[in-house]
Amino acid sequence: MSVANKKTNKKKLVIKKEVIKAKKSKLKVRPKAIKQISQLRHNLVTDEWVVVAVGRGKRPDDFSLENESVQEDADIEDCLFCDPIASGQEKDVLIYKTDDDDWTLRVFPNKFPAFARPKAGRVSHQEEGPYFMMDGVGYHEVIVTRDHYKHIGKMEPIMVAELIDAYQTRYLDLMNKKSVRYIEIFHNHGKKSGASIEHPHSQLIAVPVVSPFTVQELAGAENYYRANKRCVFCTMIKWELDYAKRVIFENDLFIAYCPFASKMAFEIRVIPKRHTPYFERMSDEEKIAAGEALHQAIRKLTTVIEGVAFNFFIDTAPCDGKDYPHYHWHIEILPRTATWAGFELSSGMEITAIEPEVAAEYLRKA
Ligand SMILES: [Zn+2]
Ligand SMILES: [Zn+2]
Ligand SMILES: [Zn+2]
Repeated sequence: MSVANKKTNKKKLVIKKEVIKAKKSKLKVRPKAIKQISQLRHNLVTDEWVVVAVGRGKRPDDFSLENESVQEDADIEDCLFCDPIASGQEKDVLIYKTDDDDWTLRVFPNKFPAFARPKAGRVSHQEEGPYFMMDGVGYHEVIVTRDHYKHIGKMEPIMVAELIDAYQTRYLDLMNKKSVRYIEIFHNHGKKSGASIEHPHSQLIAVPVVSPFTVQELAGAENYYRANKRCVFCTMIKWELDYAKRVIFENDLFIAYCPFASKMAFEIRVIPKRHTPYFERMSDEEKIAAGEALHQAIRKLTTVIEGVAFNFFIDTAPCDGKDYPHYHWHIEILPRTATWAGFELSSGMEITAIEPEVAAEYLRKA
């Protein structure tokens, strides 16, 4: 296994950011009542939450696949993210620039958010018979990198570190908001991933509940710790490094590997070697190492499977004021190599078409 690229690690994270502190005046500019966009409905049986869009006036025809319009085939001149100002996106909340004052990355509120911005940090709850729901309030932002054609696997690793720095900066800003309990940071790439705009972009949604997947992982990590007095993720990292057959990339601080129980063919996990539950506490050195590992993972994936669609997301401890010492944050990369059919939907068990060890061998060589 190749050892860390020390030169890269020593490079200083040269990031120029300009946090636009116009939020208060912005709120004054937009005093209109916050309209409901979605509801969070609670599943009485499974204790899970679902998000239901409201007031969109959709009709059955709107769900027909023939009506699916994806910007992927659109001309680059029509791209909404190449020049976000010109295309009428909302004002940036964060922007990174080069020395020549040219932007490299910008973050702005999503024009079509899944959640409405909360009013005075309050979330209203409602009951209906035995059921329970709450207003879908939160923050929904888009993180756009400059080059239309350079996805994360093609970018300079240092630019991926800048992207991670942007995730962290926005996370730190939103995590202490009253209504926020969890911040989902994710990236869709390719039509099959659900990306509606081809231009590379990530999204951040700060929500008032902890998602079912996170609850499951937190419980799993805690149960493992109670039984074994060790972090389950640290245990896996140690084993994967010794076993070596599923590791696809490693530097001083991070590893990327195909999980033993991968749900998807060519699934990859990028994880810090240091035990740490909280993504937002990353140092500059860690951001550089994480940027390199994420870049390598996606470069390898897109090299091995040309044109593959994928999603990745950050799994981290919730920001709900509680401590999660047994959790260990990581990034999950899920290539959209299969469609969930009846068996998968009924059982929750994915049938993976390749052994993770074989997938890792291809990825390691790429
Ligand atoms: Zn573009
Ligand atoms: Zn750990
Ligand atoms: Zn996870």
